[in-house]
Amino acid sequence: MTLKFYNTLTRQKQTFEPIDEKNVRMYVCGPTVYDYAHIGNARPIIVFDVLFRLLRHVYGKDHVTYVRNITDVDDKINARAEKEGLSIAQVTARTTEQFHKDIKALGVLEPTVEPRATDHIKEMIEMNKTLIEKGHAYEAEGHVLFSVPSMKDYGRLSNRTLDEMIAGARIEVASYKKDPTDFVLWKPSSGNEPGWQSPWGYGRPGWHIECSAMSEKYLGKTFDIHGGGIDLTFPHHENEIAQSRCAHNTDKMANLWMHNGFLQVEGEKMSKSLGNFITINELLEKWPGDVLRLNMLRTQYRQPIDWTEKGLQESYDALKTWYSRCDFGVADKLDETVVEALSDDLNTPKMIAALHQLKGDALAGSLKAIGFTGKLEDPRTASFDEAAIQTLITARNQARADKNWTESDRVRDELDAMGVVLKDGPEGTTWEAKR
Ligand code: AMP
Ligand code: ZN
Repeated sequence: MTLKFYNTLTRQKQTFEPIDEKNVRMYVCGPTVYDYAHIGNARPIIVFDVLFRLLRHVYGKDHVTYVRNITDVDDKINARAEKEGLSIAQVTARTTEQFHKDIKALGVLEPTVEPRATDHIKEMIEMNKTLIEKGHAYEAEGHVLFSVPSMKDYGRLSNRTLDEMIAGARIEVASYKKDPTDFVLWKPSSGNEPGWQSPWGYGRPGWHIECSAMSEKYLGKTFDIHGGGIDLTFPHHENEIAQSRCAHNTDKMANLWMHNGFLQVEGEKMSKSLGNFITINELLEKWPGDVLRLNMLRTQYRQPIDWTEKGLQESYDALKTWYSRCDFGVADKLDETVVEALSDDLNTPKMIAALHQLKGDALAGSLKAIGFTGKLEDPRTASFDEAAIQTLITARNQARADKNWTESDRVRDELDAMGVVLKDGPEGTTWEAKR
């Protein structure tokens, strides 16, 4: 089986050849835990979960190591703790727990390792020391900075010139920087800010060094796949590459760099100010997790997604048809037509077309293997009084048997007002929640 993926680093679709077939290694940047995850955050989680499942299918379940970190030290977390009068630990524990709950409902497997940044401060300090020793970093006013001009081929991933980087709004100009493009590996902490003792005083790590230190610990100096959202290409991934390659004297940090495209909502960029910022948690109140998962996979991962109610309804309908055509009792097993579609740069629209052609065990096994549960309970029916609905249905059936049409219509209207739609079929009357 040949797997082909688009590599951001080479700007080409390439055949995937793992460094070690017995241990295929992938790192994906995980969430910064300060707030509920939104549906855009779910995209890399679902996309790389599908990739993880494909790799396990091809190389064997015990031959893939997937690391997805938790960033639990970040200034956004400090700000949130301050605002709510909570400790940093309370904010990160609460948010991490919610994140796990949300993505479990989306059918996402646990990664092999889920390291937390705050458990790896020692490794980050060691890496910073190495970078200083090798002349790639320097200390200034309690900070440690990476010296961008010390790396000859900095910028290959995002293909930016130095001028473009300087023009990039994200670059902070500070007096202690030798060059405006230099970035922070360590910074001083005071007051309520989280901090650890280091050779450069009491402080905390920069964001980029977290992923370099944790990926080395669990995957080694060079590994197979590094993933994340397209916005992470610069500066985050560019800087991860600079740190790791300069610390380890390697020509690559990861062979294959994969980035998912962005998600927007009903044609607009998702943002708090536009009021269209939707969390996974909110969506799960309205839609089964399987629907959110399928809706995410209807677009190939590199393309932008427009997330709409219409799309969700179509995803719901597709799942309903599939689930009526198969029984989820069987083992999970990917059908070869599904594998073939995914092997082509995770072509999930092609995979869905393949699923439409399947039925029975081939369909159920494939759906299970790509993370669907087979359950489509309308989460809103949970708030319905099923016994009361059943009583009304019985009353309506009786009225119909008595040919009392006024009464049977009245009962139907009453149910309709409750948000219940009746379906009269050969097996009797069933109901579902109105959409
Ligand atoms: P953050 O917590 O902002 O670091 O984001 C966590 C992950 O979600 C990163 O891989 C981001 O690239 C990704 N992400 C954030 N917003 C979106 C979006 N609107 N669409 C797709 N991916 C996103
Ligand atoms: Zn990262």
